[in-house]
Amino acid sequence: MALLLWGQWSDAQRDDWLARLRAALPGEDWVLDPQAPRAAEVELAVVANPPPGSLRGLPRLRLIQSLWAGVDRLLDDPTLPPGVPIARMVDPAMNEAMTQTALWATLSLHRGFFQVLAQQREALWRPPPQARAAECQVLVLGLGELGGRVAQALAAQGYAVSGWSRSRRKPPPGVLALSGDAELAPALGRADVVINLLPLTAQTRDFFDASRLAQFRRGAALVNLARGAQVDEVALLAALDDGRLGHAVLDVFRQEPLPAGHAFWRHPRVTVLPHTAAQTDPRSAAEVVAANLARLRAGQTPWHLVDTGRGY
Ligand code: NAP
Repeated sequence: MALLLWGQWSDAQRDDWLARLRAALPGEDWVLDPQAPRAAEVELAVVANPPPGSLRGLPRLRLIQSLWAGVDRLLDDPTLPPGVPIARMVDPAMNEAMTQTALWATLSLHRGFFQVLAQQREALWRPPPQARAAECQVLVLGLGELGGRVAQALAAQGYAVSGWSRSRRKPPPGVLALSGDAELAPALGRADVVINLLPLTAQTRDFFDASRLAQFRRGAALVNLARGAQVDEVALLAALDDGRLGHAVLDVFRQEPLPAGHAFWRHPRVTVLPHTAAQTDPRSAAEVVAANLARLRAGQTPWHLVDTGRGY
């Protein structure tokens, strides 16, 4: 049996992953090209956004393990081998990084620090008002691996946190759990900070369109840490320009890298991050892959399987 490592990345990135995976899985036979003759022996494909069509024709394949948490691009491939389960990456180091990014964005918005940075460029000495954390309403969209942890960490800092998800689930400590459209509109109308951690699916594509943005409380902020295709960028710019939204912290975009001429780069109410909110950390992620392979070989259900019907 062999393992496939395959994705769209530089040779240096691939070699870094290979070294980490070899250390976590000593003695395994790795194949680096799905067209290679030995690919017929592959039981596990470890992938990072593989080119569409490239996972066809692997007769012994039993599991596709994504190295990325979001599987929207992977699931867009209509030629994925039917019946082969897909696991997504849930990496403790990535969870930690996402929590840090969400804390930084929320703290900066709540305390007016983005404004203070802009004032520094003008040599303006103007202390912002100092609201208490409990006076700042934060709405986290998506209460999964990332959103659940983010919501819990913000609640621990004293913020008034609600979390919205598809199904009503037990909320993390200190978080008010919401679900369904009927609970979303009033929550958007209350929130000072809205953090998006929904997966990109047919239901969440263009989620932040003009009508949704019109439900935001005047002057509220959007923090998009999930996927760019969930935001109608023209509608967002219009909402920022007319003051409906006070600020946007954007880590992800419809086109990445964000083109140099894009209005977001120089907009006074936008903070741009280069898709860096939380990266998979090869050191811990290689251990996650090893654990899932062990489960597969022991006849147990692998962790973090994707429901392809739901799209996440
Ligand atoms: P997850 O564990 O699958 O959680 C997804 C959450 O969203 C769940 O609570 C789910 O509800 C909810 N949800 C899904 N569809 C919904 C809908 N239509 N309406 C309401 N709620 C819905 O995902 P995760 O690991 O937290 O990751 C979330 C996303 O973050 C990823 O898909 C990826 O796109 C993004 N991401 C970004 C970065 C970055 O660096 N910017 C890094 C990693 C991940 P249920 O609980 O009811 O299922």
